[in-house]
Amino acid sequence: MNCELCGRVMDRYHEVIIDGVTMKVCHDCAKYGKEINKRPAAVQREPVQHTIQSNNFIRVPPPPLPRRKSSSNVEDSDELIIDFGKAVKKRREEMGLSQEELANKLQEKKNLIAKIEREEIKPDRQTARKIEKIMGVRILEKVQ
Ligand SMILES: [Zn+2]
Repeated sequence: MNCELCGRVMDRYHEVIIDGVTMKVCHDCAKYGKEINKRPAAVQREPVQHTIQSNNFIRVPPPPLPRRKSSSNVEDSDELIIDFGKAVKKRREEMGLSQEELANKLQEKKNLIAKIEREEIKPDRQTARKIEKIMGVRILEKVQ
């Protein structure tokens, strides 16, 4: 192609602005105009945002456990009678047993027997059933 200014054949041209007109000129003529920087400015590469997939770290709450009405295998309708302590004490004395002897029979601690008789603590149903069975006394009653 030819220089648009001097007509010289050129294999490479410069694109310059001369008097507001863009022209393709040879190397020598380029100085007459303002060369357009054809080189694109280095593209600023956006830093690649490595989106951290945090899916692996999401704590999935465990499914709620099914609520059991009672872990006891004893019917919930059985409740200690009001005077269970007196009943135990009375029956124990009828049997001629000391608290310690009764404790041995029940394979419980003497302290527990004393507290049950004073009604300071309520025996759990399992113990209450054991007392009923071994002593032949009713301390549980059905609650309607
Ligand atoms: Zn030229």
